[in-house]
Amino acid sequence: MPTAAYGVADATAPLAPVTIERRAPGPKDVAIDILYCGVCHSDLHFARSEWFPASYPVIPGHEIVGRVTAVGGDVTKFKTGQLVGVGCLVDSCRTCPSCQEHLENYCTTGMVMTYGSPDPVMGGMTAGGYTTDIVVDQDFVLSIPENLDPAGAAPLLCAGITTYSPLRHWNVGTGSKVGVVGIGGLGHMAIQLANAMGAEVTVFTTSPGKAEDARKLGASHVVISKDEEQMNAVAGTLDFIIDTVAAGHNLDPLVAALKRDGVLCLVGVPANDNPHPSPAVMGMIFGRKTIAGSLIGGLKETQEMLDFCGTHGITAEIEQIPMQEINTAWDRMLKGDVKYRFVIDMQSMKG
Ligand code: NAP
Ligand code: ZN
Ligand code: ZN
Repeated sequence: MPTAAYGVADATAPLAPVTIERRAPGPKDVAIDILYCGVCHSDLHFARSEWFPASYPVIPGHEIVGRVTAVGGDVTKFKTGQLVGVGCLVDSCRTCPSCQEHLENYCTTGMVMTYGSPDPVMGGMTAGGYTTDIVVDQDFVLSIPENLDPAGAAPLLCAGITTYSPLRHWNVGTGSKVGVVGIGGLGHMAIQLANAMGAEVTVFTTSPGKAEDARKLGASHVVISKDEEQMNAVAGTLDFIIDTVAAGHNLDPLVAALKRDGVLCLVGVPANDNPHPSPAVMGMIFGRKTIAGSLIGGLKETQEMLDFCGTHGITAEIEQIPMQEINTAWDRMLKGDVKYRFVIDMQSMKG
């Protein structure tokens, strides 16, 4: 089916209207009318080939919420009219050790990303959520709790799970002292999730103007990361830090903020030409500290995160935009001028 979308033709082109081809739903497929799609900083990194050369055109978008319009004959998990989500993955090998452990996000033989992966069904590359419709295998579709605002729930599909998964993996809970670095799409979810898990949250930001919002989201302490005195004051105080910053920066003061055996988990992925400076080994050795990384989350954990957000009433703080304003939104995201996630209202494509 020809479907209206927005995509980029090369690494420097703006987003522009393009027609893509969606498959007719197969027996295990769910067809979804997209209501909202969040705008992740990864969309921009990827479309501009900041990590590796992308195959063009790129149709970004992996924070998708919509309603089921049709299901294939073998679909048991979803029915027409249901509110559903699609995140960063639309398939995986299903047999490797990671897939067997519900960690499709670490599939060793090739997961299929929602956009920019070879499409095993249609050929060509997969196309993401900057469009009106998508067809996805039921095993990669999530159920969205109906009590959540659908637009505010869209960013949970990437920003939510990317921060929830490491918080869970490193056992954040009541009494944990957690740091969140960067208050953007991911960071503002991390504050809310860590707070709901019972942690005491310290935020590290380069933007003093975000301090009040950080507190409203659940942070107990706000540290201006460019202020050396403030950074020194929190040395040795945190169990776990999640770093969501989309650009290279000095990790040493963050390692210093950890207690003995603390973990600094990197989830922000700076562009290749802007890497983090190599951290000081001494800073890690004294205190047996870990610098780790984490990639989104598996399907089972993504559903767990959505249900957790349903129970706790957690959604993203969003600014809704029509698709036609996406280029301005990307420019503003680059400047850190977003509170705290742009979400495209797909009605703007259906007029
Ligand atoms: P975002 O909304 O743009 O937020 C990034 C935040 O980083 C900014 O709001 C800003 O917060 C801080 N920052 C400080 N210095 C910066 C600089 N020079 N340039 C840009 N940001 C700076 O981005 P996002 O969507 O949350 O994504 C954050 C990063 O995570 C991106 O690199 C993205 O690709 C990556 N990501 C990774 C995964 C994964 O699975 N690991 C999943 C999704 C996204 P303050 O103003 O508070 O300093
Ligand atoms: Zn993302
Ligand atoms: Zn696999």
